Amino acid sequence: MAGVRAVHHLNCGSFRFGLVTHVVVCETDDGVVMVDAGIGSADIESPSALGKAALVLGPALERNETALMQLQGLGYSASDVRHIICTHLDYDHISGARDFPDALVHVTADEHAVASTRPSFTAKLRYRKHHLPLDMRVKTYEGEGEPFLGFSVSYQVAGLNDFMLVPMRGHTLGHAGVAIRAGERGWLFHAGDAFYHRSSIGAGPSPRGLRPRALRVLESMLAADSKRIDINHARLYELAHSQQIGVEVFCSHDRAALRELQTRQ
Ligand SMILES: [Zn+2]
Repeated sequence: MAGVRAVHHLNCGSFRFGLVTHVVVCETDDGVVMVDAGIGSADIESPSALGKAALVLGPALERNETALMQLQGLGYSASDVRHIICTHLDYDHISGARDFPDALVHVTADEHAVASTRPSFTAKLRYRKHHLPLDMRVKTYEGEGEPFLGFSVSYQVAGLNDFMLVPMRGHTLGHAGVAIRAGERGWLFHAGDAFYHRSSIGAGPSPRGLRPRALRVLESMLAADSKRIDINHARLYELAHSQQIGVEVFCSHDRAALRELQTRQ
């Protein structure tokens, strides 16, 4: 079964305000497994398809930031990517999946349902039809699951012993964190957009200046269920500080945290 041999931390989408989009690329015995896919080539070539709302945060839309180009730089081709595990289906997390048509996309059933039916005005703004991997193979997760790392529900990612999908409703209705058993590094936890700045989970220096506060406001504005934000922060605080478990917790858009992990790698 697939052991994780190497982990790469990539920025697959810069935004205004110094935000990045943290994609994790894992080399395993079963090919490349990615957590999130960043912004893809098609949207960089035709950004108007993203809609005006997506452009408010000023995505840089640089071709060399796509996961595809960075993976090619690491010596892989698109067909080497076998699995993409999604924290959620906002465009900055799913758009790049189309660059890897052979991959199986894993996502919670709740997220897939709301992104495919787009039942409200905000859902229509949030989820673009062309991003849903309808023409790709998709595996969805729902039901009881199993307790894991102190979370009451989690799902073993199909065919991948070292990856767990952990539902964390809040930023979106079907948002999830992804836990990765990364060999000697132990467990990594990609929390997606469950927090925006590591000070929110006490995993970095105390907030200074306006930036962390501005990010908190942005976090509330973008949340589908804002009551869950503080609950998720508290849970991730516990996880990041647990002496027994020893998990590295990080999120999608924190540039300083990404750089730190890249330096260590
Ligand atoms: Zn995001």
